[in-house]
Amino acid sequence: NKPAASNFLRSVIERDLEAGAYAARHDPAAIRTRFPPEPNGYLHIGHAKSIWLNFSLAQEYGGVCHLRFDDTNPEKEEQEYVDGIVEAVKWLGWDWQAHGKSHLFYASNYFDFMYRAAEALVSAGLAYVDEQTPEQMRANRGDFSRPGVDSPFRSRSPEENVARLREMREGQHPDGAMVLRAKIDMASPNINLRDPALYRIKHATHHNTGDTWCIYPMYTFAHPIEDALEHITHSICTLEFEDQRPFYDWLLDNLAKLGLLEAPLPKQYEFARLNLTYVITSKRKLRQLVEEGHVTGWDDPRMPTLVGLRRRGYTPEALKLFCERSGVSKAGGWIDYSNLDIALRDDLDPKAARAMAVLDPLKLRLTNWDEVIGAGQTLPCDAPVHPAQPERGRRAFSLGPEVWIEREDFQAVPPKGYHRLSPGAVVRLKYGYVVRCTGHTADADGTVTEVQAELIPDTRSGTPGADSVKTKGVISWVGAHDALAAEVRLYDRLFAVPHPGEGELAAELNPDSKRVVQAYLEPSLRGAAPESRFQFERHGYFVADLQDHSAEQPVFNKVTGLKDTWAK
Ligand code: ATP
Ligand code: MG
Ligand code: MG
Repeated sequence: NKPAASNFLRSVIERDLEAGAYAARHDPAAIRTRFPPEPNGYLHIGHAKSIWLNFSLAQEYGGVCHLRFDDTNPEKEEQEYVDGIVEAVKWLGWDWQAHGKSHLFYASNYFDFMYRAAEALVSAGLAYVDEQTPEQMRANRGDFSRPGVDSPFRSRSPEENVARLREMREGQHPDGAMVLRAKIDMASPNINLRDPALYRIKHATHHNTGDTWCIYPMYTFAHPIEDALEHITHSICTLEFEDQRPFYDWLLDNLAKLGLLEAPLPKQYEFARLNLTYVITSKRKLRQLVEEGHVTGWDDPRMPTLVGLRRRGYTPEALKLFCERSGVSKAGGWIDYSNLDIALRDDLDPKAARAMAVLDPLKLRLTNWDEVIGAGQTLPCDAPVHPAQPERGRRAFSLGPEVWIEREDFQAVPPKGYHRLSPGAVVRLKYGYVVRCTGHTADADGTVTEVQAELIPDTRSGTPGADSVKTKGVISWVGAHDALAAEVRLYDRLFAVPHPGEGELAAELNPDSKRVVQAYLEPSLRGAAPESRFQFERHGYFVADLQDHSAEQPVFNKVTGLKDTWAK
């Protein structure tokens, strides 16, 4: 099941496998990748890309992908997010069980090892405790135009440094009093190598380790160690980490020399993060939207979170298709949101059952019903569940003396080329009869409240007389006697600007991102299960809301229209 398009990561993996780079490990997994989220929020569409990339590469090459919680930061992490991430990865269809084992890990379970590694570096003269103030440290780091300045604490002896580090660990110093730093090169052109911080003091309770620690490793120190301990082969991350790669290698090489790690060591590879137009992919900003009440929660159907996309009606298959098509490269850029909808349509078109729905209802009364059909009668009609798949059978509904039509399907004064209802016009009620418009009623301010028409006898769809009267227009409808009343939530893009996040979030929001209408749906939708998806003929794709939909109070969300309306 090898996807058609190749990418530079596949080339790297194939090169490594050919060279037998990991053969010495005798690992049942040919390669190991990992998806390492920090449990400080819900996953978003950008994470879906990283999940797809890591899990699909592992699958493709007979490897294993680890799900690892990068939970080294005590303050922002919560169990709620851990659970949400597990759920989201499963929903996307991936599994971290392989060779009879679970590959779900927590970085915080490596705190002991990380601390030992830190002491080993200090003893080897490769790290020191710096007591400069944070301001001094910042000033002395230098910048691109000038080298940094050595800390006065840089030349302390390893013994003194070990003693200080132990004091840090034992809680003898307040937050910010000192940090452990690698001793590399304060003049390096790569600022990440100017003695990066390895450990900081943080008197904070951790969701997994409680109060065991009051010092916590920095991400740049922790991450390579996590990868090495799990025997990751290809550590794939986004381009922002490119400048961290020399430190990643410096750290692992030195820990290997000190006998703490064994070759072959993991290697880091970077790819361009996913940026989607009109969408924010920053957990911090997504949290802000939730906290400021611009959306109903992390799972608001307008949110680009996986819980939000799911509620909106996107399928795991559509997201996968989107990820595959958007490719993997080293060059960043913005992908047009329409690509996500194209993938959704490609996935749902063959799957979704069809139904008629009237979203902006106007009553149409068939004035000669009693004469032509009979008083108190209704007329059974049917239509294919899916026009291209006759084997899926037919859906049943019925025509009656009063039907709901779309308000836009009647014009008292029709513009040129208008082929729907207008005084005297003849149209077909889809799957039903041909009708001729005979009049309409309006209220005092001119709003049309009812349209009247006559059925033209012997024009029923599917009968020999169906074509006896030529019509230019066909309109959708639902019978007033058997329609299912439902709340339909019409969603549009959450942001009005293509590259949100550059200015103030609140000012960039689309004020019309949600509209709620009372609609009438075809009776075949009665009893639809939450999360079942349909194509409402002519309107687009809709899903029964995962949270709020019930048989008594149906609620449907619009996923997207039938055509692309994004490109302007
Ligand atoms: P955020 O900035 O939204 O908080 P993050 O990168 O800090 O995102 P993590 O939980 O650390 O969030 O991310 C886990 C993995 O997902 C990382 O390997 C990261 O590179 C990847 N990732 C995050 N956002 C994107 C994106 N937009 N495109 C591709 N990969 C992403
Ligand atoms: Mg992160
Ligand atoms: Mg982040």
